[in-house]
Amino acid sequence: MRVIVAGGGLAGFTAALRAVELGARTTLLEKGGLPGGSFLLSSGYAWSYRDLPTFRREAPGGDPGLQNLILERLEPYIGWLERQGCPVLSRETGNPLTFGARLDPEGTVGALARRIADLGGEILPNTALDGLLNDTSGRVTGTRTNHGDELAADAAILSSGGFAGNPELVSRHIIGGPGRMRLRSHPRSTGDGFLAAQAVGARTSAGMDEFYGRNLPAPPAEFSPAEFVEVSQLYGRHAVAINTRGERYADEGADWSETALTRTTARQPGLRAWYVLDAAGLEGRVRERTAGEMVEAAKRAGGTVLETPTLEELAEALAKHGLPRDITLRTLREYNQAVADGRGDELSPPRTGPAAPARVPPFVAVEVAPTITHTVGGLAVDERCGVLRLEDGGPIPGLYAAGVEVGGVSTGGYTSGLAAAVVFGRIAAESSLGH
Ligand SMILES: Cc1cc2nc3c(=O)[nH]c(=O)nc-3n(C[C@H](O)[C@H](O)[C@H](O)COP(=O)(O)OP(=O)(O)OC[C@H]3O[C@@H](n4cnc5c(N)ncnc54)[C@H](O)[C@@H]3O)c2cc1C
Repeated sequence: MRVIVAGGGLAGFTAALRAVELGARTTLLEKGGLPGGSFLLSSGYAWSYRDLPTFRREAPGGDPGLQNLILERLEPYIGWLERQGCPVLSRETGNPLTFGARLDPEGTVGALARRIADLGGEILPNTALDGLLNDTSGRVTGTRTNHGDELAADAAILSSGGFAGNPELVSRHIIGGPGRMRLRSHPRSTGDGFLAAQAVGARTSAGMDEFYGRNLPAPPAEFSPAEFVEVSQLYGRHAVAINTRGERYADEGADWSETALTRTTARQPGLRAWYVLDAAGLEGRVRERTAGEMVEAAKRAGGTVLETPTLEELAEALAKHGLPRDITLRTLREYNQAVADGRGDELSPPRTGPAAPARVPPFVAVEVAPTITHTVGGLAVDERCGVLRLEDGGPIPGLYAAGVEVGGVSTGGYTSGLAAAVVFGRIAAESSLGH
């Protein structure tokens, strides 16, 4: 049996290793010169929610069957990776809602590459999937590459990371209008696998308009991919989030990962917003950092950070950036009063979760912009990771997907992309070989 895996991120590496381990002649195509994908930029936490009810609550629109696979398989599959020599740094996720492990990205990619080579697999860097081959029955029979080659195969596994790096697709499916989000990822996931699958009749999943990302300091801030984690502004829950009209636009405390806040920021005018904090908010902690430390990171990146002794002066300072002074001040005062009275849930939009009024000087406003790490919608698959046909919902013979290419897992919320890479990568490989 010959298996071609298209995309050398964690999903592709996992799939390729499992395929080669099960005896398949395996080729891993990687568009870039350096395999590893987003994993190499990540914090390395592969995690699942603790139980299915929590999973359903945190990602209510996601496919429960696929969520259950992550829940049940993550732990044994991490153990399998560890036995392949992948360094597990910790078994703690630091989040009481989840369990999982922290992998060392570089060490893991190195170990997986060595194991694939030792078992006779082939890794082709600088080689991109450029379409799928199929026969008259609709079975996928191989792949085309950007070098013009046609590689015959019994099965193809798509692990090319979705379409976050394709501004036209992001604009059409996610933003739904003008404007452009910066990438918080490597730039090569431009929808090649997603579009190739649709060209052979694949169906798309739920959640095509959703993405996972973070609010980062808005331009003129500049940062390198290695700084993506450091410059993340993950303290909306300690702030008041207002748009350029001076209005609140989202529930800052809606979810622990602030995915909903980031997604809503992407629908604000100019794809910009401001996080307003007082001295107490700056002390607020998110995991190992305070909001104040994240604001300092925004300043170091050249982001716009305003600081004033009164709320009135903050509204004046924001007016110099185009926000209407009186509306901004009214928004902040109304928020403060409602939260102080314990009526945050009566605001529109409501403010849920722990909240405090912004009253202690100095007052700070940080300009943020949404960035996209990966898409949430993608290819519709069954629980064997077989890509489903648009026409009748049955699996397309010979075609599988893994990692971000698998759509509709975290619809309505967020779940671990690294867990989806490991779990669906291994399942796709086993299914492609009839296991
Ligand atoms: C800063 C940052 C921090 C993160 N932290 C975490 C975390 O702690 N926990 C977590 O769960 N997730 C985290 N993530 C997300 C996580 O890294 C991704 O969800 C995961 O790595 C996706 O894996 P993947 O293999 O599906 O896709 P990718 O990693 O995107 O890999 C896709 C690969 O396919 C290649 N490719 C694209 N097109 C083609 C083609 N036509 N042919 C061949 N190859 C192609 C790309 O070059 C790339 O190497 C983080 C991401 C970032 C950027």
